[in-house]
Amino acid sequence: MQFQRKIFPMSPRKPIYEGKAKQLFEGPEPGTLIQHFKDDATAFNNVKKGTISGKGVLNNRISEFLMLRLQEIGIPTHFIRSLNMREQLVKAVQIIPIEVLVRNVAAGSLCKRFGLEEGKPLGQPLIEYTYKKDALGDPFISEEHAFAFGWATPQEIDEIRMYAFRINDYLSGLFMGVGIRLVDFKLEFGRLFENEREHIVLADEISPDNCRLWDFKTGYKLDKDRFRQDLGEIEDAYREVARRLGVMPQESDSNIIPVAKETKKK
Ligand code: UDP
Repeated sequence: MQFQRKIFPMSPRKPIYEGKAKQLFEGPEPGTLIQHFKDDATAFNNVKKGTISGKGVLNNRISEFLMLRLQEIGIPTHFIRSLNMREQLVKAVQIIPIEVLVRNVAAGSLCKRFGLEEGKPLGQPLIEYTYKKDALGDPFISEEHAFAFGWATPQEIDEIRMYAFRINDYLSGLFMGVGIRLVDFKLEFGRLFENEREHIVLADEISPDNCRLWDFKTGYKLDKDRFRQDLGEIEDAYREVARRLGVMPQESDSNIIPVAKETKKK
């Protein structure tokens, strides 16, 4: 009798959560999740929707690179390892429902709220917090809201603030080294229960989706503002960030965007 190879159908992975740019699936071991990066992009609290072809692959690589560098300087993160082009294995954490915005230069909503000119350097790095709730449009909150509503304790916020400033210092220097100004970015943190203790760890992703990154010399935007503001060359901007960080899926030596010839575009 001829040997027949049994084909086992792949069991469907259990989806845990679907966000705007990422999906989470149950991981292979308890306490792990698979974070899948999509090409979907949204802006203005879901009002503008689109796809940026190849974005998921680039953000997966960029975020992996930055999370590993941060781990090297002692920032605890949820990142475990990359699985494939679009997926990474992460530790399952309890996400704190606060978005931590760190700013070095005035841009985006800060300009609108305070009537500032885009591009004005701030006297010192500024941390702001929003409540992570799409239905309410992520309203700005103070630390006191976090305590009063029980979203985080004063000790947790102290730790988050300390990590956020360290991350800003480190990433500002890292990006400066590749000719990019780190204008602002958003972080999310989670609680991890390990060794009978609760730890605060950096979660989510760090990529051109949630950072403002400008070419140092020209001010050319290399981030999601190209999508928000219909500036074009969106995919190329993300690829240029990956190329400068040395994490392009296919190695490339030359600039993807001829940013050098750009005039300061704001
Ligand atoms: N940001 C983000 N997700 C949000 C809100 C902000 O990733 O839901 C990032 C944004 O990309 C920028 C920084 O946080 O790098 C500061 O955002 P701002 O408040 O200026 O947001 P805007 O209103 O311009 O989106």
